[in-house]
Amino acid sequence: MDKKPGVWLTCPMSQYLQQQLTTRFTLFKSWEIPSKQDFFNHQSHSIRAVVGNGVHGADSDLIESLPCLEIISSHSSGLDKIDLVKCVEKGIRVTSTPDMLTEEVADLAVLLILATVRKICACDRFVRNELWKQRDFGLTTKVSGKSVGIIGLGRIGSAIAKRLKSFTSQVCYYSRSEKPNSGYKYYPNVIELASNCEILVIACSLTKATHHIVNREVIDALGPNGFIINIGRGAHIDEQELVTALVEGRLGGAGLDVFEHEPDVPVQLIDLDNVVLSPHVGTCTVETRKAMADLVVANLVAHFSNEPLLTPVV
Ligand code: NAP
Repeated sequence: MDKKPGVWLTCPMSQYLQQQLTTRFTLFKSWEIPSKQDFFNHQSHSIRAVVGNGVHGADSDLIESLPCLEIISSHSSGLDKIDLVKCVEKGIRVTSTPDMLTEEVADLAVLLILATVRKICACDRFVRNELWKQRDFGLTTKVSGKSVGIIGLGRIGSAIAKRLKSFTSQVCYYSRSEKPNSGYKYYPNVIELASNCEILVIACSLTKATHHIVNREVIDALGPNGFIINIGRGAHIDEQELVTALVEGRLGGAGLDVFEHEPDVPVQLIDLDNVVLSPHVGTCTVETRKAMADLVVANLVAHFSNEPLLTPVV
């Protein structure tokens, strides 16, 4: 690489990633730039790459503001915050970080299943608030042996299914396409899946087709003894319908890592004992974040050295 290419970082990410980028590129930290409009008016030509993540990606406005943009290297596997159509139109390459995070997110899904069904967060509050001295906590329900329906038997969905074998769960799924060799039962739509399982796990990518894929009808098909676990994206669920169902007792419980308007979380969820909330931490371990950062950088280095991209999307 001759002159260091300019890279636009859409939001604060790990110190490690920022150091790695600074070593090889001229880094522009979007949040430190006082007037973005001024910057785009005068310096937009210096930016040849964008690094974003699953929350702060590259929308149409950002892409249009950067006439010399060649590549978006996303620190995520989800690409719903990138205008992929525009990228294809303009010949901008896009890379993501699949595989690096699969095991971590699958672990969190299982953790949320166990914590939600066995109400472990409510148990913890019960002990801390010294309520144990007054009464027993009460009964929950078993995880082992329950039927689990997975929406999206992709990388993460398959890793969740694999883990659930040790809980003797009956795993079934819905995806765009049937996977005949998976050994799991396929349902051709989400309603049938929800009608035939007790725990519904959302692990698909967010697209127009999967926006609000879990709506009132799906929630009602799952019923008052059913649980929803979401490690995909908040907008997979019609959140208002979810909240209403939980408040009215039409759904047994929910374990949520992602929210429709995160970091805002519906206030009605805060006091519910049958809900477990986590702040979009599916990939938040030192090991996984380092592996993701290395891949983000490796894709940029490959691009600017005219080498094949490691994990191209478009
Ligand atoms: P992946 O391997 O690409 O799998 C995506 C799955 O979504 C595939 O099984 C695909 O179906 C399914 N899908 C896509 N469109 C669908 C539709 N219209 N109807 C039904 N299923 C559909 O991706 P991954 O690595 O497993 O990641 C999945 C998602 O998890 C990401 O897109 C991201 O949003 C989310 N995620 C969240 C976190 C977190 O921190 N909570 C971290 C990483 C990723 P086919 O198998 O038929 O193609």
